[in-house]
Amino acid sequence: TNPVFTGIDTTVFETMSRLAMAHEAVNLGQGFPDVDGPEDIRRIAADTLIDGPNQYPPMLGLPALRQAVAEANRRFYGLEVDPHSEVMVTSGATEALADCLFALVSPGDEVVLIEPLYDCYLPLVKQAGGIPVRMRVTPPDWSLNEDALRATFSERTKAILINNPMNPTAKVFSERELQLIADLCLEHDAYAICDEVYEHLVFDGARHRPLMCFDGMRERTVRIGSAGKTFSLTGWKVGYISGPAALMDPIAKAHQWLTFTTPPNLQKAVAYGLGKEDGYFTGLAEDLMAKRDRMASGLAQLGFSVLPCAATYFLTCGFDGLGLGRTDVEACRTLVTRAGVAAVPVSAFYGSDAPTGYIRFCFCKQDAVIDEALVRLGAFL
Ligand code: PMP
Ligand code: GLN
Repeated sequence: TNPVFTGIDTTVFETMSRLAMAHEAVNLGQGFPDVDGPEDIRRIAADTLIDGPNQYPPMLGLPALRQAVAEANRRFYGLEVDPHSEVMVTSGATEALADCLFALVSPGDEVVLIEPLYDCYLPLVKQAGGIPVRMRVTPPDWSLNEDALRATFSERTKAILINNPMNPTAKVFSERELQLIADLCLEHDAYAICDEVYEHLVFDGARHRPLMCFDGMRERTVRIGSAGKTFSLTGWKVGYISGPAALMDPIAKAHQWLTFTTPPNLQKAVAYGLGKEDGYFTGLAEDLMAKRDRMASGLAQLGFSVLPCAATYFLTCGFDGLGLGRTDVEACRTLVTRAGVAAVPVSAFYGSDAPTGYIRFCFCKQDAVIDEALVRLGAFL
């Protein structure tokens, strides 16, 4: 069998969700909201499912959705992309990542990755024949060290893959950090693959800024979004890529042999969703920010050392002195089996030599669910 896939565990998210179910735990592991996204969006998907069309849509995506993605790029970031040649719809950001890596990376090419990293990055880079070159950001502030990043680039670097805002650290890359990445990409003639699925889940009044907006980056950057996050519909698996036509062409070739198309009713509904008024997008972030604060203060009161959270669905915490175990894996096992609360060990986001002192809680849950988790944790600790 293919060595990329042998000896690999089932993803930590699925593993923790199975454990949560088996132990009837409050599931704060896998990142998904427990209330479905807007009803008007779902209604369009439902109506289209009944009324059709339900046959293969165009391979690059429904024209209405590609147009909506292009318009969102202009509205939120001032980016001009051509909906016909510079936007493609995918079955989730995961497929988008696979398409980009398979299309842009050739065997032997180096791909720079920043740890902690989202779990599909390493297997996808390896499956593409690429050589992952990892560097890390470290808690509590997860800031990017210039020398360390510079040292990961070489004449063999084909691309850097960044996740901004970043899962699981809840970090938003600073202007300085993005400029540094842009400078290194230009110096080394490298592509940037930007996983920006949390682009609208940014807190404290901050606004997301795509790397693609930086001078010189428009022609070498592909930017990935996900309706799953933007509309709280993670099971839909509708993603989209924006990038220069010269890169989108090979990326579309990868897409045609992976999934080819994405359900047309979901695409039509997401096209409508992307046109929602600004208040929807700011409201989503405000809503999540209140949940972040609710969970962060509760966890801090219980003795967790809660790290700053500028974006995403996630809080990461240290658990020193709480008697949960030596490592994050032990702590998560204790929590799910004995406290009835599922979290995710942050060590799962590393290729090797992972730090083991942090766990991740997902806070995109109803207030009553957050409170119930805090009560259970309080009763156990
Ligand atoms: N990238 C990151 C950083 C994620 O956290 C996730 C998880 N949802 C994905 C990609 C996958 O997105 P999708 O469900 O659209 O495939
Ligand atoms: N992105 C989600 C998380 O980080 C998980 C998605 C999945 O289960 N593959 O929790």
